Amino acid sequence: MKTKFIFLTGGVLSSVGKGVTAAALGRLLTERGYKVAIQKLDPYINVDPGTMSPYQHGEVFVLDDGAETDLDLGHYERFIDTSLNQVCNVTTGQVYEEVIMRERRGDYLGGTIQVIPHITDVIKRRIRLVPKTTGAEIVLVEVGGTVGDIESLPFLEAFRQMRGDLGKKNSFYIHVTWLPFIGATGELKTKPTQHSVRELRSIGISPDMIIARSDHPVPEELRDKIALFCDVDLQAVVPMETTDILYNIPLILEDAAVGEFISDRMKLKKRQDPDWKSWRKMVTAMREQKPTVNVALVGKYVELQDAYMSVREALQHAGTENGVEVKITWIHSSKLEKDKELSLLEAVDGIVVPGGFGERGIEGKINAIRYARIQQVPYLGLCLGMQVMVIELARYHFGEEGANSTEFNPSTPHPVIDLMPDQRDITDKGGTMRLGLYPCQLQSGTIAAEAYQEDLVQERHRHRFEFNNAYRDELSKAGMVFSGLSPDGNLVEIAELKDHPFMLGTQFHPEFLSRPYRAHPLFASFIKAVIKHAGR
Ligand code: GLN
Repeated sequence: MKTKFIFLTGGVLSSVGKGVTAAALGRLLTERGYKVAIQKLDPYINVDPGTMSPYQHGEVFVLDDGAETDLDLGHYERFIDTSLNQVCNVTTGQVYEEVIMRERRGDYLGGTIQVIPHITDVIKRRIRLVPKTTGAEIVLVEVGGTVGDIESLPFLEAFRQMRGDLGKKNSFYIHVTWLPFIGATGELKTKPTQHSVRELRSIGISPDMIIARSDHPVPEELRDKIALFCDVDLQAVVPMETTDILYNIPLILEDAAVGEFISDRMKLKKRQDPDWKSWRKMVTAMREQKPTVNVALVGKYVELQDAYMSVREALQHAGTENGVEVKITWIHSSKLEKDKELSLLEAVDGIVVPGGFGERGIEGKINAIRYARIQQVPYLGLCLGMQVMVIELARYHFGEEGANSTEFNPSTPHPVIDLMPDQRDITDKGGTMRLGLYPCQLQSGTIAAEAYQEDLVQERHRHRFEFNNAYRDELSKAGMVFSGLSPDGNLVEIAELKDHPFMLGTQFHPEFLSRPYRAHPLFASFIKAVIKHAGR
């Protein structure tokens, strides 16, 4: 079959769930037996989000190949259960970088380099790399932002040109919009959608489908109106009301016959009927009334929960698997800097310290970990969360001398966490950490090995600092067990504590590999310990 491309644009507002919609559409197609990949085009000029603050951008999602990507890639992977690769996230920065590099090399033979065709050609090339490198038969391509943004114009122009290249049956345009609700009159409005479709038309793209997001039920006559004014088939106007559970969205789209419509329009040869039994069961399990456990997430970006998207999802997956509702108490680490404020932790059944960079809030995290160690509260540390767990134990072991990571105090007397040797000469910040999938050998008889039920696992990394091996013996004496090591034994990938129900930290980010119906083993074991602690 010739590769099919589905292009997604956004209208009216950003943050209406276009990424999750793309992910859910991907699921509709994988359920029908096609090999699907999803690509995100980000109009900003950064080469990747790796150098951006989580406040600006939310979580940086890391792929197997080490690409630092937009958090939407996390939704894509969780919904279609496929590992994507670096070509699945393209930014304006990457496109211009490529064009300028070629220009310097002399590839353009004296030509004037312009947005059309040079920039748009590179965008099209990058889109076509997705099926080439992933083997996907159907590629969904989502462009960030909303129609009308100056930055996204070259991407939209590339979308427009691709219909000419591909023909109608191999290309499909979906516009995701928002229907605002006017409280005074109690009605939803379609006008902004009409305007945004007009804007899209003015650049030469006529949507084949409109997905209209709203916080309220959409009356039938509004669908008629959108179909009429925007010139799309009535069946192709799909209202999508806000739902309590993200994973419900594929079911909403399936019930609205979106899968059939797309299959029909794109002349997809039928492979298999979608079988939603297990997906539906999972959504029902997520919805069910369940006992609640309370987990504190102690981080420094808690005002923006998107910064911890995958951690939040992984906790939810583990809760569903264990039959509990995981309520997350978001605690700003700086709030825990004074001992008396540790009372915030009294109500929780487990503590998570996620990844992070820089010194701010570190002492609060260390206090939270000390509390977890002494009070025997289950603790899961992710990347930085493992490093601070090591620092806390070292301070207890060495007394007042102040063990630390050289990231926070370069002249600490006990640098228990230190820069990795191959990081020492690196000065560039972008894309230079230890990134992507690396193997980890589990040591039998440990909490980690018990959780995974495997000897060798592969996990995704994003860090510059690591456990300093000069301290392995001393910290073993203090009760630390190095339960996961790189196969050559050189790098500590998992550390855990003896004589504690569950105190474990990973140098990698297990949250990136958790799936809604296949919770990550470490998260699942952590939640088991949390349930036990809560006495549920
Ligand atoms: N700042 C730490 C390091 O670079 C931890 C990174 C992280 O948590 N992702 O090693």
